[in-house]
Amino acid sequence: MLDCIIVGGGLAGLQAAIQLGRYAKYKVLVIDSGDGRSTLCRSYRNLLGYPDGVSGEAIRQAGLKQLGTYGMEQKPDTILEAASLPNGGFGLRGSSGASYESRTLLLATGVMDRLPGWPGLHPCLGLTVYVCPDCDGYEVKDRRTLVLGAGDVGARMALTLRAWTDELLYLNQESAKHPVSSELTARLAAAGIRHRQADVTAVNASMDGVFHGVLLRDGSEITAERAFVAFGGNEVRSQLAAQLGARLHENRHVWTDPRTKMTSIPQVWAAGDIAFHSEQAVIAMGEGAQAAIWMHKALTDMEERRP
Ligand SMILES: Cc1cc2nc3c(=O)[nH]c(=O)nc-3n(C[C@H](O)[C@H](O)[C@H](O)COP(=O)(O)OP(=O)(O)OC[C@H]3O[C@@H](n4cnc5c(N)ncnc54)[C@H](O)[C@@H]3O)c2cc1C
Repeated sequence: MLDCIIVGGGLAGLQAAIQLGRYAKYKVLVIDSGDGRSTLCRSYRNLLGYPDGVSGEAIRQAGLKQLGTYGMEQKPDTILEAASLPNGGFGLRGSSGASYESRTLLLATGVMDRLPGWPGLHPCLGLTVYVCPDCDGYEVKDRRTLVLGAGDVGARMALTLRAWTDELLYLNQESAKHPVSSELTARLAAAGIRHRQADVTAVNASMDGVFHGVLLRDGSEITAERAFVAFGGNEVRSQLAAQLGARLHENRHVWTDPRTKMTSIPQVWAAGDIAFHSEQAVIAMGEGAQAAIWMHKALTDMEERRP
């Protein structure tokens, strides 16, 4: 049986693995399905030491190399089932058909944004098209910016971005299903933010992520320098935590002890976007390290109690 399995090799999971590696005695496996937010973001610009930005992929590749120096590996698989074992520890089953067992478990499976399938969107993500104003509001400062979203979620994003730019246009994609409420319509008007229904069919951008605007179903084009996507309904990937019976918040994020990052199930930890609602790269890494330190304490305790 392994000492620890980390499900999710994104920023939280890799940082946790590196911390566990530094105790130089644990058998740790990182299992990753390769489709997280850190695989999408092409530039983090709010990280200490990277004023020109660094991509999620670059951090992940560096992390994998670092795991190698501690003799750890990452296995590609998608974990579908997790259960407590009768004699202690946990059993997992992956979509590959493989089974895994460990004494402790860290869930770092993250959140997945509700993103439209528009051609041209992905090369821009994190570079010129964003999802998080705390991360990237600065990037639209005094720039002509589109908010591409739905209903009140998009309206609130536009109002938030007004702190950085007054050149905003909100294109509501789902106005029949999700009209903007009268209260937010009044606030948009008071803030001087235009909004209208418009069906975007593609992002007009170069392959290296330079955003020029969007193409609409009626054949017209709207030009802009930057955009934010805001549809709401992001998926919190907490299904494995739920299977194990861990306590979830109403918004499906996993409850963790603020000091240890352990979930309500003993010997199961959670870190990163899945656990906390701040959803930022450094917080994910910080939580990963914090969880690993307390996993080490728990594993040491288990060793000492062993007959
Ligand atoms: C477009 C975009 C731009 C962003 N910009 C910024 C920014 O500028 N600054 C900032 O601080 N943050 C930014 N973020 C947020 C940041 O990327 C996340 O906060 C961070 O990636 C969270 O790390 P994590 O490890 O919790 O999750 P992730 O990085 O998403 O990693 C989770 C991993 O778990 C894996 N996984 C999920 N389910 C399973 C399963 N069942 N089995 C196996 N593996 C599984 C996934 O494949 C993934 O690799 C941005 C996000 C996006 C999408």
